[in-house]
Amino acid sequence: MAERHSVDEYLETIYFLAFPIGEYTPKGAGSPPLASRVAEMLGVSRASAGEMLKRLEAEGLIERGAKKEALLTTTGRARAERVVRKHRIIERLLTDFMGYTGYESHERADALGDTFTDEMVERIDEKLGHPQRCPHGWPVDPEFEQKENAELAPLATLRAGERATIVRLAEHDGDLLHWFYDQGLVPGRELEVRRADSAADQFTVTTDDGERAISEKAAAGLFVRPA
Ligand SMILES: [Zn+2]
Repeated sequence: MAERHSVDEYLETIYFLAFPIGEYTPKGAGSPPLASRVAEMLGVSRASAGEMLKRLEAEGLIERGAKKEALLTTTGRARAERVVRKHRIIERLLTDFMGYTGYESHERADALGDTFTDEMVERIDEKLGHPQRCPHGWPVDPEFEQKENAELAPLATLRAGERATIVRLAEHDGDLLHWFYDQGLVPGRELEVRRADSAADQFTVTTDDGERAISEKAAAGLFVRPA
């Protein structure tokens, strides 16, 4: 079977599920087991995700919990944190040094993942002046990221009248990420929720350049700091 995703990409996905925020939170009771969540996020079949999870387990990177969920081992967690940190530093190399847009950097960073050794990544980090966040607002330091999760909320959970500042953009959906940039919904942008009616899928916000409608999916992928 051809593997479409590397061990590191799987670890990155499990990392997002292990330290969830917003749409990365596992769904409630009766939810699919984690293998299917991983499969869904990577766009692969349950079977290939299951195969790969077996391999990660054999390599000591994950353990299976009581419900067969994938839990990062100490080794697995350290490697996953290295992978996400590396991705974020490479994205900054692409934007700060090579002049790519935030949207372009995400795709290209995925392709470059295996190009740089850990030692090279440290050199890049130093040359860039130790950037704090990737272009999409995700902290380079995973420990800081995990702490900050508690202070942020998906825009979709805010109510009409609430004000907030965009801090991070969900990255795993390329089309959605593109849309955020098209709309100027980027880190640092302040907004106010005008209407939040999830039953009618009506979510509108105002920013300094006017009012706009946001789909529920997009509102779930914008992580904001409520004012
Ligand atoms: Zn990023």
